Amino acid sequence: MYSNTADEVSLWQDEAKCANIDVEKFFERATEKEAKRFCATCPVQGDCLQYALVYDMYGVWGGMSYKERKRKFPSDYRQALREDLIESGLYNERLKA
Ligand code: SF4
Repeated sequence: MYSNTADEVSLWQDEAKCANIDVEKFFERATEKEAKRFCATCPVQGDCLQYALVYDMYGVWGGMSYKERKRKFPSDYRQALREDLIESGLYNERLKA
């Protein structure tokens, strides 16, 4: 089951391809296509995508744009992910965008 406590987030984010770059600068300046290409070889792309779905993040996360995530993962799916996390006590309100 998906989980994403603050500690687990920092664990997968440590493994992220973007962990050692200036993320804000890169994702602000990169085109969507460049950002997706960058994410395509990230070892924690799946964790990142789930995080973005649960916390409703904007921009390219997990190799998908906000619109693509909304299209591919309907709101009931995203809400179910979120509720699972809330139910298990792992949802972290502070992480929400
Ligand atoms: S998939 Fe997520 S964690 Fe990986 S490089 Fe892209 S934004 Fe960073």
